[in-house]
Amino acid sequence: MEVADPLTLDLTGFDGIIVSPGVPLNAHPIRAHAATAHVPIIGDIELFAEARADLPPHKVVGITGTNGKSTTTALIHHICETAGLPSLMGGNIGLPILGRDPLPAGGIYVLELSSYQIDLTHSLDCDVAVLLNITPDHLDRYDGFEGYAASKARLFGMQAGDHDAVIGIGDAPSAAIARTLSKRGAHLTKIAPGLCMDQSRWPALQGPHNAQNALAAIAACDALGIGKAAIDKGLETFPGLPHRMERVATKNGVLFVNDSKATNADSTAPALSAYPRIHWILGGKAKTDDLDACRPGFGHVVRAYTIGDAGSLFARLLAPEMPVEQSGTLDAAVKAAAANAQPGEVVLLSPACASFDQFKDYEARGQAFRDAVAALQ
Ligand code: ADP
Repeated sequence: MEVADPLTLDLTGFDGIIVSPGVPLNAHPIRAHAATAHVPIIGDIELFAEARADLPPHKVVGITGTNGKSTTTALIHHICETAGLPSLMGGNIGLPILGRDPLPAGGIYVLELSSYQIDLTHSLDCDVAVLLNITPDHLDRYDGFEGYAASKARLFGMQAGDHDAVIGIGDAPSAAIARTLSKRGAHLTKIAPGLCMDQSRWPALQGPHNAQNALAAIAACDALGIGKAAIDKGLETFPGLPHRMERVATKNGVLFVNDSKATNADSTAPALSAYPRIHWILGGKAKTDDLDACRPGFGHVVRAYTIGDAGSLFARLLAPEMPVEQSGTLDAAVKAAAANAQPGEVVLLSPACASFDQFKDYEARGQAFRDAVAALQ
């Protein structure tokens, strides 16, 4: 093995350059350098795709979208396991797929795919490909919104025509991609927005956004041939993901929910709409100076408790809308909220802010919330 700088090396004759999805290819000189030598730039998912022919017979589910990827990936994986199928999840969810042993015959690989990972993948023919939604994000890495949407569309472009596509059509770019796939007939499932459904038996899948995630998972598992009974059981027993509307404990009839992953107002909004009576803990390092995206859920908030750098700004913004206390710290906010909350109400940490002013990261903030709840009498 030789260690060298790929930018100064003559790349002629190389099979590929493997880069991390974190490398901004739109701005990085490796792109032009590799193009000059006609060498493809690929990522670990492409290596997996190229190795598939040597794996025991299996299926691959690929999940992408701006929001809901991790939840839907974990849910599909959980339903596969519930159905007794060997299954692994990997990709953007933080588990490198090449670090795992291959599954036995009949296995299902469930891959969460960011746009960056799709950009580095050229031959992944997913048996089932899922697109949840496309909303503006990561635009620093693309030539505008269209470039970002085109990246998501490639997941379907790599698929064989008789493989399944599941697409949430709640936004125009996703609906446009679905229209290009109309020839798939029964192999295309469109998930319409705003469908009313009974989620009462799915404790870890509350809120309209999780209805979309659940419907996408149901369609994907149906396409995999999993029966209704296993799908129903999987939805009921799904434990949820840590720090995303995670049910931490119920004390004196009050449910405590950790949504520390919600680091901006857009991702807090679904949590506010998920419960009718909320004691809302928010604040930290603000990314925006308004909470407009959360406004539709304000009517569900019984009282707000602000913490961190954004505490006084948010208290000022919310004061005309609801009772609000400036608690300062998460510990103080949990104590105050627990003291005020009545049985049947929810104490929700959904900060709409980054955590760095008071915590190492959102995981540390979520853990501090769990600890504070555990310490309550
Ligand atoms: P991702 O892996 O795409 O970041 P997650 O499943 O981790 O998505 O969810 C992150 C946040 O995004 C959640 O806390 C929730 O606020 C929001 N979210 C989840 N699913 C959806 C969805 N289908 N549509 C819109 N927002 C969603």
